[in-house]
Amino acid sequence: MKLLSALCVLVLAAAGCASAAVVADPFDARFTGRTLRFDYHHAGRQGEEHVAPAGLRLEGEWPGSRTALVDRSNLGKYLFEVADESGAVVYSRGFCSIFGEWETTGEAKEQWRAFEESQRFPEPRGPVELRLSKRAADGSFAAPFFSQRIDPASRFVDRAPLRSGGRVLPLHETGPAAQRLDLLVLAEGYTQAEELKFQADAKRLVKALLDTAPFSTRSSELNVRALFVPSPQSGIRDPRREVWNETAFGASFNAFDSDRYVLTYRDRELRELAACAPYDFLVIVFNGRKYGGGGIYNLWATCASDTSVAEYVFVHELGHSLGGLADEYYSSQVSYEEFTPPGTEPWEPNVTALREPWNLKWRDLVEPGTPLPTPWEKGPYDQLDQGFQARRAELAKGRDDAANEALFAEIKAATGPMLGRERFAGKVGAFEGAAYESRGLYRPATDCIMFTRNPTSFCAVCERAVGRVIDLYAR
Ligand SMILES: [Zn+2]
Repeated sequence: MKLLSALCVLVLAAAGCASAAVVADPFDARFTGRTLRFDYHHAGRQGEEHVAPAGLRLEGEWPGSRTALVDRSNLGKYLFEVADESGAVVYSRGFCSIFGEWETTGEAKEQWRAFEESQRFPEPRGPVELRLSKRAADGSFAAPFFSQRIDPASRFVDRAPLRSGGRVLPLHETGPAAQRLDLLVLAEGYTQAEELKFQADAKRLVKALLDTAPFSTRSSELNVRALFVPSPQSGIRDPRREVWNETAFGASFNAFDSDRYVLTYRDRELRELAACAPYDFLVIVFNGRKYGGGGIYNLWATCASDTSVAEYVFVHELGHSLGGLADEYYSSQVSYEEFTPPGTEPWEPNVTALREPWNLKWRDLVEPGTPLPTPWEKGPYDQLDQGFQARRAELAKGRDDAANEALFAEIKAATGPMLGRERFAGKVGAFEGAAYESRGLYRPATDCIMFTRNPTSFCAVCERAVGRVIDLYAR
C-alpha cells in the first residue's frame, strides 16, 4: 500500500514535470533542436575585411549546451551573435579565424585573400539576424561589420541529407552530447588500409589529453569520438619537401609560409564530413612523422601523429583551439608581424601586457609576496635558447625528422631543469616574454605546455581558462 501510493506520487510528479518542461523550456521555445550552419567567405587585406555569404546548411541534432547559449567568456578576436526579432541575442560564441591570423602577416599588407569560414548554431524557430563583430583595440566588440537577416524556414536553407563519408568510433563517451563537451578527432592523410593505425594514433593522443588537467579531473564531462575518412594518399601536402598528396581534408604544412604550421583552407568540405558526428570541437590528426600542427580558437586544431612529441602537440594545439590560450613562447619563428597590437591588453586569458599589475587578470592566483613582474633568469635562458633556435632553423632546411626529434630531446634536457630551478618555478606570477614578444608581454608561469615542450601540464592560469570553456559546453 505504501509502495503503491509512493509510486502514484512519482507518476504524478513525473507527469507534472514533463508538461511544465514543454511549456517552460526556453531552448525548445526558440530552437528546433537541430544545427544550422552559416557558410561564408571572410575576405580582405590588412585594415579592410568583408563577409560574403555562401549558404545555410542544415546539420544534425544540436550537440551544444541548451542552457549556456550566450557566451560570456570574452574569448576570441571575433564574436558571432544570433539575435531574435526583438534584437535580443539568443546565441553567441567568440572565435578566431584563419583570416584573423593571416591579416597580421606581411602578405596581408600587399594583397587580398579570401578564406572559407562557418558558424554553427541551434536552428531557430523563426527569422533571426546573424552578426559578426571584431574586437577593438580597447578590448570591446565594436558594432558588427556584418549582419544579415535570415529565415530558417526559407528555401535558401540546404536541407539535403548529410553525406555519410566516414566511420565514427567512440573513444570516450560519458553522456548525451547536449550535456558534454564533445571533441571529434578527424583522420587526415590515412588511406583505407591505414584505418587501424588511425584508431591507435587517436587513442594514444586522446589518452594524453585525458591525462592532463583539467581534462583529467573533468573527464566525466567530455565525450571524445574519432571519425575515419579515408584519404586517397598517405600523408599530407608538404610544399617544402615537394609532397603534393591528395587527402580527405586538404591539410598542408607551410601555412603562411611557416614550415611547421599545418592548416587546411577547405573548411566547407571539412564541415560537411564532420557533420555526421556530434561535435563542439574538432582536431585533425594527420598521418606522418614530421613535426607540425596548429590550433585556432573555436575553429579546429591539427596535430602530427608520429612525431616523438605528438602528445605534447595534441594537448598544446587544443589549448589554442578549445581553451582560447595564447602561445606563451616568444622565440620560435612565426609569420605574424604584430599578433598583439602594441599598447593593447591581449584578450587571451594567459598573456598580459601588465600595464596595471594591481589589476592583473589572474591576480587571485598570485600568492602574496610574489613580485609583479616576476623576476626570472631570462638572459641565460634566451642565450641558451638562441643557440637551439639556430640549430632548429638549420635542421628545418633538411628532411631529417629523427635529427629534429633528437634536438627536441636535447632542448628539453637543458631547459626543463633550468626553468625548474627558477626561484618562482611552479608559482603564478607575470614572467616577461610571451606570445611571440620577448619584451612587453608576460606569461603566468616559468613553464607551461603553452611555453615549452617540457611539462606535461598546463600552468594554473591555463588550466582554469580551459575549465571555463568546458563550463560552456558541459551543462
Ligand atoms: Zn600557461
